[in-house]
Amino acid sequence: MAKFIFVTGGVTSSLGKGIIAASLAKLLQARGLRVTIQKFDPYINVDPGTLNPYEHGECYVTDDGAETDLDLGHYERFLNIPTSQANNVTTGRIYQTVINKEREGAYLGRTVQVVPHITDEIKRRMLLLGQDNKFDVVITEIGGTVGDIESLPFVEAVRQLQWELPEEDTVVVHLTLIPYLRAAKELKTKPTQHSVRMLSQEGVHPDIIVCRTEEALSPEIRRKVALFCNVKPEAVIEAADASTIYEVPLAMMREKLDLICLRKMNITEYAEPELSRWKEFLDKLKYPKSKVTIGLIGKYIELQDAYKSILEAFVHAGALNECKVQVVNVHSEFITEENVSEKLGNLDGLLVAPGFGLRGIEGKITAVRYARENGLPFFGICLGMQMAVIEFARNVLGIKDAHSTEMNPDTPHPVIDLMEAQKSITAKGGTMRLGAYPCTIKSSSLAHKIYDTEHISERHRHRWEFNNAYLDQFEAAGMVASGKNPDTQLVEIVELSSHPFFIGVQYHPELKSTVENPHPVFVHFIKAAKAFAEKKETVKSPVMQKELIG
Ligand code: GLN
Repeated sequence: MAKFIFVTGGVTSSLGKGIIAASLAKLLQARGLRVTIQKFDPYINVDPGTLNPYEHGECYVTDDGAETDLDLGHYERFLNIPTSQANNVTTGRIYQTVINKEREGAYLGRTVQVVPHITDEIKRRMLLLGQDNKFDVVITEIGGTVGDIESLPFVEAVRQLQWELPEEDTVVVHLTLIPYLRAAKELKTKPTQHSVRMLSQEGVHPDIIVCRTEEALSPEIRRKVALFCNVKPEAVIEAADASTIYEVPLAMMREKLDLICLRKMNITEYAEPELSRWKEFLDKLKYPKSKVTIGLIGKYIELQDAYKSILEAFVHAGALNECKVQVVNVHSEFITEENVSEKLGNLDGLLVAPGFGLRGIEGKITAVRYARENGLPFFGICLGMQMAVIEFARNVLGIKDAHSTEMNPDTPHPVIDLMEAQKSITAKGGTMRLGAYPCTIKSSSLAHKIYDTEHISERHRHRWEFNNAYLDQFEAAGMVASGKNPDTQLVEIVELSSHPFFIGVQYHPELKSTVENPHPVFVHFIKAAKAFAEKKETVKSPVMQKELIG
């Protein structure tokens, strides 16, 4: 049977519970243990698939087609192993299961209550990944902040498990904030004391307190937190602000977070942490040899979390290329034909982001045109690929009113059309084409050069697709479908052979990029952007200019 570590949060949200959980998991994994992480979210949506990105940031998608919280992206990026449907559970999902069972008559006439029925279902799901000897340690991150009404049943489930399981089978890590009062030049422990008291009132006593802080914790502060929160001083962990999230595992190792957990779990067999690839990545990330500027064109750019996986994939690909990737957010709603060269003129690459609905569409199309006509490396993801198709239809094939039926259901030229399987679907939750599907790649294409194989599998989240009725016309004019689903012929990749780097993908490569396996499309895109930047530099150099003038 696996051991269970629970990570709760106090004082405020956004302290980075997901990163702490992922860092701890990374350290245990690096010591040779088999670890997974799951997230329990207190909201009532059955999954975050129906949420606007402004609410909780990007919706992450697993291989098996679960629409999940973005923290699962961190888990995969850190651990380099896939998560699944079982790794993200919401209050909505718990209630749905219990209510369905009640309708089936499974409770045999009894009153169905939060305790024990809801808490039993939470516990069942908390233990699920620990079965079948697949993992030595299961880390469970509890979303929300201790003291919230909605997280009570989850904390109660943790309390019961702490009581039911052997002492050495559970660890509770509580993440809090130690604010620094600039005027008083002092770190304050009171909010942490209150938050631990609240958790204790709910019956759970933390074994370890991880303190987010802007300033180093002095031995006195550590002792104070330890004394008032009733943990050993060594179980007070400093989590100082880091320059990158990828530093956090090393910071947690210095604080011995992993060793304290191992001791509590009575695990005596473990290796020295093997983190050489991780450290190599960090070195490259910290000391880049060049720099590129990439424009991210989207409509949710005010909220960085909306494009989390894309931004992280750039970090991975940048490090591999020993190149700093500066991402400039460009709001698609404000791009017009008049200002496009001013807005995009300084870029070395353009990424048009995924998305839904009409807002900002024409700006995206205008941006694609600029990239196509100016040899600017272009990478379109999902909706971004669909925009590249519409742009090509309108401006190269001359089909002026070409559109996607998502934005204009009455277009006479639906170059992007609703997938056949989607036509009978009316419910919104969990009904897109989701998760991993195979794709076959054409030999001697850019895609083939990137992946260096003919068979790939990538993750999806969409309802619309390239309309194959137009494919011959597109290919004759130079936009090639270089990747297709082998079973349905759905176009997965389009590219322009006449352009230095122009690729659109129907799937979401960003979801599979990890520290140890940066995604090849991102890696090659950054490489192309580097080449573009170098060429610009040469043109700008005085010698070259003289030659040009001469
Ligand atoms: N709205 C488009 C579709 O459903 C694209 C989706 C996306 O970018 N994830 O096909």
